[in-house]
Amino acid sequence: MKQTVLSCDTLVAGGGIAGIAAALASARSGAKTLLVEKECVLGGLGTLGLVTIYLPLCDGMGHQVIYGIGEELLRLSIRRGWQDKYPAPWLEGGSPEEKAKIRFEVQYNPHLFAIDAEQLLLDAGVTILYDTRIVDVEQENGFLRQVRAYNKGGETVIRPKMAVDATGDADLFRMMEGPTAVHEAGNPLAAWYYFTGKDGLRLKMLGAADIPGQTTASLVNRRFSGLDGAENSEMVIQSHRQILNDVLQRRETDPSLEPVTIPGIMQIRMTSRLDGAYTLDEEEDHHSFEDSIGMTGDWRKNGPIFEIPFGCLHNAAKCPNLLAAGRCISVTDDMWDISRVIPTCAVTGEAAGTAAALAAALPEESLAALSADALQETLRKNGVRLHIAEIL
Ligand SMILES: Cc1cc2nc3c(=O)[nH]c(=O)nc-3n(C[C@H](O)[C@H](O)[C@H](O)COP(=O)(O)OP(=O)(O)OC[C@H]3O[C@@H](n4cnc5c(N)ncnc54)[C@H](O)[C@@H]3O)c2cc1C
Repeated sequence: MKQTVLSCDTLVAGGGIAGIAAALASARSGAKTLLVEKECVLGGLGTLGLVTIYLPLCDGMGHQVIYGIGEELLRLSIRRGWQDKYPAPWLEGGSPEEKAKIRFEVQYNPHLFAIDAEQLLLDAGVTILYDTRIVDVEQENGFLRQVRAYNKGGETVIRPKMAVDATGDADLFRMMEGPTAVHEAGNPLAAWYYFTGKDGLRLKMLGAADIPGQTTASLVNRRFSGLDGAENSEMVIQSHRQILNDVLQRRETDPSLEPVTIPGIMQIRMTSRLDGAYTLDEEEDHHSFEDSIGMTGDWRKNGPIFEIPFGCLHNAAKCPNLLAAGRCISVTDDMWDISRVIPTCAVTGEAAGTAAALAAALPEESLAALSADALQETLRKNGVRLHIAEIL
């Protein structure tokens, strides 16, 4: 089998929202950046997974908490039109009172967003390798020295200085046998799909998240870890059955109904994550961290604001040149449901990509040598707000 060998400053594993943000930030910071994605479309759950609601950049009280690439991608997602959600006061200069009444969230077209994100990365100088799955890593004293990936051209060996694990499931950390933890309760079944019918194009959201204090009906009487091949296939098959049943049932009242897109990637929320230098908890609402790399609100309720410490993105003592971004950063199970959403994935992606680029330029090529001050200075320069005191 043919072997191709590539080298780069930053390898971004996975091209979901976190991977897009990480690759963009890394390339803009001057690093030679390679993004490897197993599918042929960027966006992960946010495009192929048909999760097309870019949850809020605000705290629900009229304060914007997410800036930088988190905001840039939200604006890009609706550049060519929006679907059901359009927060006019936020996008058209409304008053603070008007902003407090509506959350800064949008719904977008997944196909156009994926194509525009791809062009954004290419313009920034990112090399994208599609249809390529990372399957293995080689390490030396905890340093990730190379990854092995496969595509139709055979084996690709990639030798990065720094890497960002944006696979959603902490796959690189798991391949390294590094520090990881799993979500205890697992996930309910989801079966979101798009259809057209008498009311035009609609997103059907079958299978809701677990929201504390709310009872939501599950589609099936079991939960899924997302970490077992046979179980994953069963989850996908059950999701397909749910979609078919829903379509047939709805056709009884709307014979014109046609499903137009079903998910091209498994719709799973919380699986495996980094067990990092710091693990953020839901109790740390409004807590200030000296090494904060950005903030997030809580999509489920108005009020909370969380600063995200840099330690949630790495465990430099065990994996000195590997960072996590997106839905696999280091948070407790309670916090996971807050941090896994699209805007927060963009925040942690931007921070991880920036940190990777800065560390790759250091002689040690290690996160231990990177000061939080240097990272924060670059993030600030790029428009990110780091602390609650900066926005209230
Ligand atoms: C049913 C459901 C509803 C949701 N609803 C919302 C919502 O309304 N709004 C919201 O903001 N969020 C929502 N979320 C959460 C949100 O969509 C995701 O958590 C977020 O998009 C995750 O982004 P990510 O980049 O971290 O991971 P992912 O989107 O999972 O991206 C990971 C990428 O890595 C690639 N990859 C994985 N392994 C490899 C490998 N070995 N080699 C190469 N590539 C690899 C994958 O193909 C994928 O493209 C929902 C999630 C689900 C499942």
